[in-house]
Amino acid sequence: MTFTAQILTLYPEMFPGPLGTSLAGRAMEEGKWACDTINPREFATDKHRSVDDTPAGGGAGMVLRADIMAAAVDHALEKQENAPILAMTPRGKPLTQARVREIASGPGVTIICGRFEGFDERLFDARDIEQVSIGDYVLSGGEMGALVLLDACIRLLPGVMGASSSGDDESFEHGTLEYPQYTRPQKWEGRIIPEVLRSGDHAKIDAWRKQRAEEDTRLRRPDLWERHRDGPDQSPSGAQEKDKDKE
Ligand code: SAM
Repeated sequence: MTFTAQILTLYPEMFPGPLGTSLAGRAMEEGKWACDTINPREFATDKHRSVDDTPAGGGAGMVLRADIMAAAVDHALEKQENAPILAMTPRGKPLTQARVREIASGPGVTIICGRFEGFDERLFDARDIEQVSIGDYVLSGGEMGALVLLDACIRLLPGVMGASSSGDDESFEHGTLEYPQYTRPQKWEGRIIPEVLRSGDHAKIDAWRKQRAEEDTRLRRPDLWERHRDGPDQSPSGAQEKDKDKE
């Protein structure tokens, strides 16, 4: 099955962009995922093909019209009815690895990219759309967010990373950050790779990695650490834990 991404964007030329190279680019060539764009301007009704208007109540900037965006969403739904529809917005729920895993295990995703001051809120009242944020900062448009979300999904598609790396050990997969990594040369600028990693004792290496993953998570991401400590169900990477329960 080909994972299909539909992107609603005023800038279709931004796709696949960087996802046309490297791991994702190869996966696209191999037919593991596909990318279609839909330009909301095609659904505009005036001669200027306007998609936006001034904010109700006044204020700076322009707002994407609900009627035009809904027409584009309905078109996307006709083409792919079973995929979740996400809108990129800083007002949305923060994206997590658990949600990425869920999306990657489905048929695809439709992503609506905002611009200007964002969307007329009635779009979200009228259509089943999940509002998603990629972090607590403001981008100029949703396209970069869509690329981030797609990159995170594509690497998890079957066969994309190869058998040697399933991504199971990465940061967030078990509720913590990953342990620190090292490689040759063994000594660099007077700094030596931790002795345990050179010991060949896999039980000791596993214990050291677990301890460092936990310590770094506690120090760098107290929010993650608190959820991890409270149990796997609270973890933002709970998808892996839930999958295991199903087996
Ligand atoms: N007025 C909006 C606000 O303050 O919440 C910001 C609009 S932003 C300038 C334009 C578009 O960029 C948004 O509609 C959204 O699609 C995208 N965007 C900006 N920051 C984002 C974030 N953190 N996560 C996801 N999308 C974002």
